[in-house]
Parts: sequence; C-alpha cells; structure tokens
Amino acid sequence: MIITLRKDAPQSEIDSLINQFEKEGLQVNIIHGDNFNVFGLVGDTAKIDDRRIKANPWVENVNRIAAPYKLVNRMFHPNDSIVDVGGIKVGGDNPIVMIGGPCSVEGKEEIINIAKAVKEAGGSMLRGGAYKPRTSPYAFQGLGYEGIMDLVEAREITGLPIVSELMSADKIDEFIEHVDLVQIGARNMQNFDLLKAVGKINKPILLKRGLSATIEEWIMSAEYIMASGNPNVILCERGIRTFENYTRNTLDLAVIPIIKEKTHLPIIIDPSHATGDWKLVEASSLGAIAAGADGLLIEVHDNPECAWSDGAQSLKPEKFKCLVEKAKKVAKAVGREIYES
Ligand code: PEP
Ligand code: MN
Repeated sequence: MIITLRKDAPQSEIDSLINQFEKEGLQVNIIHGDNFNVFGLVGDTAKIDDRRIKANPWVENVNRIAAPYKLVNRMFHPNDSIVDVGGIKVGGDNPIVMIGGPCSVEGKEEIINIAKAVKEAGGSMLRGGAYKPRTSPYAFQGLGYEGIMDLVEAREITGLPIVSELMSADKIDEFIEHVDLVQIGARNMQNFDLLKAVGKINKPILLKRGLSATIEEWIMSAEYIMASGNPNVILCERGIRTFENYTRNTLDLAVIPIIKEKTHLPIIIDPSHATGDWKLVEASSLGAIAAGADGLLIEVHDNPECAWSDGAQSLKPEKFKCLVEKAKKVAKAVGREIYES
C-alpha cells in the first residue's frame, strides 16, 4: 500500500502514522520527495481500512498495490481449483459443463420432460428455480419445497445433478439435503449474511455476478464464502446493467480471462439472463466457450411461449441440442471438450 502525505505534514503526524502501521505489524518505508512524503507499507494490508487513512487531512492519497482478496487470489494458489458437482468435475482442464433447464420449475411432469430432453441433447446438469427472485411481488414466486422435490425426482430419473437458487438462509437445510449446486443469484451477491451461511456448508456454490457489480466486488463475495470455510465456489457471469437496451443485460465476456488471471476459481456463463433473448443465446454461448468458460447455464423450456418465467430467453430442447453440437466444435478448437455423461 502506498500512502502519499502532504509535504507540510508535521513530524508529530508522521510519527503517529508510522506508530499506527507498525502496531498493525507492517513495515513502513518512507521516501521524502520535493512535494510529498511517500509511505510504502509492506506486509498484510488486507485489514487496513484505506477510507480511515484518507480521513487524515495530511493524507493526499492512498493506493492499494495488493488485491484485497487472498483466498481466491491466484497469486497465493497458482493451480486451478476444481469443484466437484455431484461427481462432475468443473474447472481446470476438465470438460465444459452444459447446464440446461427452465427458469422456474413448473411441476413434476414438466421438469421431468425437460430434464430428459436436456440429457438427450447432451446437457450434463439440470437447472430449475424453485424460489424465484422476481422484480414484481405479483409475478410467480416459485413452487418452493415442492419444486425442489420435483427436481429431486428429475435427478433420480435422469441422473443429472441439480442446480437451484437459494434465496434465504432459512432454507439452507433443504438445499444441503437435496441440491447438488447451490446458486446464489445476482440479487443476493452482496447479501453478506447469506454468503457467510453458504460458506459454512459442505456443498458447491454457484455465485452469480450482481446486476451492477464490479469484478472486484464479485470476487470479494467469493472471498466471503471461502473465508467462512467453503472453498467450493464457481463464479457465474450473467450480464451487467449498462445503457444498452437491445439486450436485457450486457454480457461481459472479458471477465473470463480476467477471472482466470486474478483467481483460481472456475467460471461459467449464463447467456440467457445476459441477453434476455433466445436468438442471442447461441452466439453468446459459443463466444463464451472460445473465451475459456468452464461451463454454460442455459434456460431450456419445451414450450417457451407458455413458460411461467423468462420464456423469451429460453431455448427449445432441439435448439439446445444444436447448440451443444456447435459447442463441441468450438471447444475442440480451443483445446477443450464438452462433458458427456
Ligand atoms: C436464475 O438463474 O434463475 C436467475 C434468477 O438469475 P439471476 O440471479 O442471474 O438474475
Ligand atoms: Mn430466469
């Protein structure tokens, strides 16, 4: 961390700051310039509150050199983390996973039919929301526990691991018992109590990027989960809010190489929520694979016109199948494979 002090800072202020940093176990190197005095702090500065230092009227500037995250930082963990989801390994050189399924679970027969179609198309996991974070309180809120049980039955029939969103910690036992990959949705990315709660469980977590979250904020949320004890985190980019309105969100594909450089965690892409339009899902998916994604999370519905949520961005099973076939070719071109069960 570099702290720039005004040249006219009194010696008593300089001594008090040095004393404060040394008490925190940091080494302070000082450069006396013509216009400023510069402190170079060496050591673990993660716990230093830079906003508090900035409050000092003699301080001109505070710059962090080291990233504020440690556990997810590739610098301290050079190898890719591999996350096991119901026996399927995600991340590293492992095959890319294609996760398909409806936005919302709509009933037992429906989810079983879609699960079979997803499997037949080459999908490796089944998604489906039972607790839905809807913008309107009047919109369908999900089938709740019944929906989770329907997913469990679809898993029994197809063998596909199930992915579903946990909205609040009071349902955590239900998810520990039944769900293979626990999704934390975009709207809860900074629900820190929920992050701490899933950090204490022994299940892999799919952490979506918040609607307007910076990459660093998203990484810090992954750090919360890991700091609470759960190393099994997969990141999921689902588009961010921008000024653009031809798409529901703006898909940020550059995050894939950035996440891989900064962290050791697997990253998957959700082109359905990112674009909001089924016609854009295939191109976005292929781009994501070319850019190094470890998986895709795609909304698939057998009758999108009648879907209870997000029909406009849902692929019909035959389109999903076609996408999986094209994905195999793109994966091959970048030295990867698509997971086949
Ligand atoms: C979802 O995947 O069902 C969902 C609600 O996504 P997001 O949290 O990315 O909006
Ligand atoms: Mn959806």
